[in-house]
Amino acid sequence: MKRRKFIKTSVTATAAISALNSFAYGTSIKKTDPLFIGTPVLPEFLFEEGIAKTLDDMQEMVGINTVMTFSHDHVFNQYRKGFRPKTDEEGHEYTNTWVRTNPEYYSDKNLLFQDPSAKYAGRDVLDELWAEAEPRNMKVYARILEPYVITGAIPGFEEFAEVDANGEKGKNVCFNHPGYMAYWDSVISDLFHTHPWLQGFKFGQERGGPILSSMGKNNPGTCFCEHCQKLAQKRNINIDRARKGLIEIQEFGNRINAGEKPVDGNFVTFLRILTQNADVLLWEQFWMDSREEQRKRIYKQIKQFNEKIQIGWHIDHGMTWDLITRATWDYSKMGAYSDWLSVALYFDSMGRRSLGHYERNYQKILFGDADEKYSYPMYLSMLGFDPETEPPLEQHRKHDTSFSSDYVYRECQRVVKNVNGAAKVQARPGFDMPGYDCNVTPAQVYDAVIKALDAGVDGLWCGREWDEISHENAQSFGDAIKDWMKRK
Ligand SMILES: [Zn+2]
Repeated sequence: MKRRKFIKTSVTATAAISALNSFAYGTSIKKTDPLFIGTPVLPEFLFEEGIAKTLDDMQEMVGINTVMTFSHDHVFNQYRKGFRPKTDEEGHEYTNTWVRTNPEYYSDKNLLFQDPSAKYAGRDVLDELWAEAEPRNMKVYARILEPYVITGAIPGFEEFAEVDANGEKGKNVCFNHPGYMAYWDSVISDLFHTHPWLQGFKFGQERGGPILSSMGKNNPGTCFCEHCQKLAQKRNINIDRARKGLIEIQEFGNRINAGEKPVDGNFVTFLRILTQNADVLLWEQFWMDSREEQRKRIYKQIKQFNEKIQIGWHIDHGMTWDLITRATWDYSKMGAYSDWLSVALYFDSMGRRSLGHYERNYQKILFGDADEKYSYPMYLSMLGFDPETEPPLEQHRKHDTSFSSDYVYRECQRVVKNVNGAAKVQARPGFDMPGYDCNVTPAQVYDAVIKALDAGVDGLWCGREWDEISHENAQSFGDAIKDWMKRK
């Protein structure tokens, strides 16, 4: 803690130099710390493939020194039919809680529900992983992705539902509901008291703010519950104007999607909604700040338990393709409550994913005044990517096409410059993701790793998930790191 604060003040003095040469700061960290090389791995894969064998593979192919797995994975239910848990090949449902739990830490015991008949219920993946990792000199981190959709996986989550701008109950939980805050307080207390040896933790979520959740959608954005309203009043936000703005943004998108063309053009009409309901912008920032407050609470709680535990945040892939998210989610403010940031750079799926986002929000709606042959290159340019280097729109539409290693370089550099040494930046170049037919080659993986390191990151996570990546691509990931270290 103290050391980080020192770095923060000392880099302020050299901010001008760092801005010109962001690489300089990254190099100075590497002189004292070994390069961080981690990988995320699913608990079921560890149990099914064997923990010892998996760790040996990780060390041999990539030189992994930190392995991270889910302690709780209720989040996956929200992406599955009927909100059911993941299953094995025979259709047996896996548990959502992969660790021992202690009811003592929960004021509401219902929130602890675990199906005793689920596969691997009763085992503790973190303890079993640590037993094999420690003798191999590897660190173990736990991770949780926020299960923000109310799926029934955690009984009682219905009580924490958001309220949308029309006053209807939403499908997600509210960051500011006291019961929901108490839930995370219990989970974190339990996790660290039951596994006091844990060296790190990652938390995050993949949900976006109210403006894009409104635009052209079935329901307007959130959250107007009593708890959020109280906090918004303290900020002097005009709640009715924020509510009105979100409803107008919803209608604006729906009309354009239905084929209407605003007389003054799409962009001017959008700006008019914002200028006439300016509190909607304050509301967007308030939503993001509520999300970041959740991280601040978790950070403080874990540091009080043991300040050595390295706490990092999941920076979801959307941060690399969404302009509005970038405006409210400011890397330069995160250092005060972050030891490290895990930045998603899934160059393989970036083509299809950013195309979908562009088509839903920009092509027809926000940038719909221009033909897509102009607006797509502009969209990439505004994101900081080179439209001459990245594949053209038609190519993404024909088949899944990877983004280049220049995308990895530029995005890493943006984060490194913004964070400015206040936390460690760990790149997470993802590849071989199931469902995408990009056929990423070992050469592409090699290139992406080199570019991330050249951009000045402090470490790397290998893949989105260890179990997804091919052996030759894992090997290439490791080779790139070795070659880069030699070159230094
Ligand atoms: Zn709320």
